[in-house]
Amino acid sequence: MIARKNVCVIGAGVSGLAAAKAFAARGHNVTIIERSTDLGGVWEPARSYPDVQTQSPKELYRYTDKAMPDSYPEWPKGPQVYAYLADYAGSHDLTRLMRLNTTVLSMQRRTDGKPGWTLDLKAGDQLSREDFDFVAVCTGQFNEPQTLSLPGEDQFKAAGGAIMHSSKYNDPGMIKDRNVVVLGGSKSATDIAVNAVRSGARSVTIVFREPVWRIPYFIGGLINFKRILYIRAQEQMFASWGIGPLSRLAHLLAKPLVWANWRGLESLLKTQLKLAKCNMVPKQRIEDGVNCSVPIATPDFFPMVADGRIKAVLGTFDHYEPNTIVARSGERIAADVAVLAIGYKLGVPFLSEADRAKLVDPDGQYRLYRLIANPDLPDMGFVGFNSSFCTVLCADMAAQWLVRYADMQLAHQPGDREMRDNIEMMLHFKRVERPAAGVYGGLCVAPYHFKHFDELLADIGATRRRRNPLVEMFTPPDADAYGAFLATAPAYQAG
Ligand SMILES: Cc1cc2nc3c(=O)[nH]c(=O)nc-3n(C[C@H](O)[C@H](O)[C@H](O)COP(=O)(O)OP(=O)(O)OC[C@H]3O[C@@H](n4cnc5c(N)ncnc54)[C@H](O)[C@@H]3O)c2cc1C
Repeated sequence: MIARKNVCVIGAGVSGLAAAKAFAARGHNVTIIERSTDLGGVWEPARSYPDVQTQSPKELYRYTDKAMPDSYPEWPKGPQVYAYLADYAGSHDLTRLMRLNTTVLSMQRRTDGKPGWTLDLKAGDQLSREDFDFVAVCTGQFNEPQTLSLPGEDQFKAAGGAIMHSSKYNDPGMIKDRNVVVLGGSKSATDIAVNAVRSGARSVTIVFREPVWRIPYFIGGLINFKRILYIRAQEQMFASWGIGPLSRLAHLLAKPLVWANWRGLESLLKTQLKLAKCNMVPKQRIEDGVNCSVPIATPDFFPMVADGRIKAVLGTFDHYEPNTIVARSGERIAADVAVLAIGYKLGVPFLSEADRAKLVDPDGQYRLYRLIANPDLPDMGFVGFNSSFCTVLCADMAAQWLVRYADMQLAHQPGDREMRDNIEMMLHFKRVERPAAGVYGGLCVAPYHFKHFDELLADIGATRRRRNPLVEMFTPPDADAYGAFLATAPAYQAG
């Protein structure tokens, strides 16, 4: 008999919805605590910049039990993703489980002798304290905007200038006829630069540290990148963790072929995106940087750089002066609006310092088994911390794993010792063998989606885990297929 638990899901984004659905479906009492006024997380309309769209093709950015509507384009726009999530919440009756406008301030282990956590909550001016048997942390990696304070800000603003984080750039009207300077090289930065040109900015400049490889939606202008980069055959070009001597030998023997594959892709990208003309040829080898930070090329970004509609400046901001930003190189850039596309702070601020030390090593690497659970933080799990290029599917799989972990129903239920050893092995892989896997605190499964899913399905006890070998090798992850694999695991119900 599996006891029904009171489960708190923190966050009502993609991951919170996946977790709430997974726990509720097994019969647990679920409460979703969301500090915002609406569900959706990064896709909440108030938090999205204009023209935002997914980097992932729509069939990769979906739950196992719900496809995006046929009417959606291959790369849905922000409002469409939001509508999909709202529909998902509605169809699983999750909306009634939500407590919006409620923030988790802190949490500590229960003192009543029962397993679980006591949460301190704030709703408006109301503070409250509540006990839960299990907590699913689904707070994402894009919540606390990074800040950057530089000399001269006050004078810049006094002269009519505006400085904002990219998450606040949601009204293109504010940049019409103004000189816009975007700081950063991420997808958000290039999206905003292109949007500013289209929205009638007087001038647009992007200031970035170094050119990085960007993947166009269609490689060579013809092939959807998912058919080349999201397939198991491509993934297997990267040596992964925990492989034996034979596999290492195979990687060694295949090295020249793999090398040629990447040089070919680099040449194609250089030609297609006119990187030399834009003076934006990256120095790093493409294969050394493949992780969650590889951006998709915003359509029209490179053509706009090439024809001067967007001025690209290598470097960073040094200080502000009235109507001017001075770059570290000394270059002076006319500016009325500075958009800081500088990312977000990673963290779980509501955990106590002692618990955070159990979760995150001093170098910022997270200690999470399967990127979901920590043996030293019982009755707690993390959904969506296994981010990737198909984060919705990752969150769904992690949620399915987590509910079974919480209920001791994994076919392979790991012991504390095994989890700790595995965490150490993964940390070694990220720190020493493949430093690119250490970005974002090591919370990124790309390019190892298939391997990660294989591990989760094996733990869960899915008796079917693969499609036909050819399909499996040469097609992207299929959410419907993963739904079918999950359905082959033993069923159970709490309560
Ligand atoms: C512009 C943009 C485009 C993206 N495109 C893609 C893409 O194409 N493909 C892809 O795979 N990924 C993409 N991502 C990554 C994206 O973050 C994930 O795909 C996914 O949406 C993350 O969902 P989440 O639920 O884990 O986190 P979030 O969406 O960040 O949701 C977390 C929720 O937790 C809430 N919360 C946080 N702290 C507290 C607290 N203390 N108390 C209560 N509530 C709290 C927040 O308010 C938020 O609603 C994109 C991200 C951005 C910003």
